[in-house]
Amino acid sequence: MPRTERLGVLYDRLPIIDVHTHTSGPDDDGDANDVVHTMDECGVEQAFCFAPMLSVHSLGLTDEHMDDIRRHNDYIAHFCAASPERLLAFAVLNPNPALAGGDVEQAVSLMEEEGRRCYDELGIRGIKMVPDRWSPDDERLLPLWSTLADLGMYVAFHSGIFLDERSSRFCRPASYEGLHRVPGLHGHLAHLSWPWVDECIATLAMETFHAGENGKDRWQLKADLSFGCPADWQIDSVRKALDMLPADMLMYASDVFWPCDPGRYLEQFIYPQLANFETAATLARHTPESGTADRIALRRNVFYDNAVEHWEAATRGKPQQLQRLTTAPSTPHARPRRSHRCQSFRAPGAGSNQPTQSM
Ligand SMILES: [Zn+2]
Repeated sequence: MPRTERLGVLYDRLPIIDVHTHTSGPDDDGDANDVVHTMDECGVEQAFCFAPMLSVHSLGLTDEHMDDIRRHNDYIAHFCAASPERLLAFAVLNPNPALAGGDVEQAVSLMEEEGRRCYDELGIRGIKMVPDRWSPDDERLLPLWSTLADLGMYVAFHSGIFLDERSSRFCRPASYEGLHRVPGLHGHLAHLSWPWVDECIATLAMETFHAGENGKDRWQLKADLSFGCPADWQIDSVRKALDMLPADMLMYASDVFWPCDPGRYLEQFIYPQLANFETAATLARHTPESGTADRIALRRNVFYDNAVEHWEAATRGKPQQLQRLTTAPSTPHARPRRSHRCQSFRAPGAGSNQPTQSM
């Protein structure tokens, strides 16, 4: 049962977990209680909250930015400590060799050390990573995956095209096969890896041949359905995922940048995603018919249960112990918040020849 009674705005009080949300630092995020307010109003029980990204491009990183990474991780622990039952903090790690004078192995041990600090000192149980100048299947990263698995940390990975126009080749879904060498590691691939949706589905499907015995939750990797795809790709992508993958591999996510008022969160994320999911489920070959109890259960799995089970499996049930500081740490090199209009993917032609509506 959802922890928060009476939460849920839809007729069946569908409980929701959002497995992909962003913060941008104390200047942009506002009060964490406002995030919880939006969640209350929209029926979202828990949100995975990622630490701010760096404003410095990966090609411009140097040893000095290690301090920024630590600061951003301190900040996300502080932010989520306002409501540790609802906000799940995700630290950012990045084994980019540029952070260690060009030495990959050194970068890997720096990140192992930072991962341990996040777990032991900050009480964080989640990690967000964007492969950039490193690839998840590089053998030199195995010690990092083992450390995170041993600690019991959930790892959310960016997968798919990357907005900086320079790093997408590191984010191809098939390169995540490398994680299967560390069976204790649990996490998910974001955006169903658009535009490599088929490759993502195939990569995840291979896990079904090697399912573990991990109780209810058998998978190392799941996928989030946040909008990587432009609108006209979405239904087909979700339909293919439902056709091919076990339904417990798919999870609702918004990719919102906080803060977001309840009206916009419902209109921009929950309603469109529910509509996409329902249409895709109706079109898919093996899904339960609409109007049946099984269909209601499938919806609830994708919007809630699949995330709960995966988080529990990754963290082995160890709750966060988040450290709140007296003042929020500053994050001078955080990437500024993405504007409302840039939060959903648009076809490049759309702005010039279609009416825009502000919300
Ligand atoms: Zn994102």
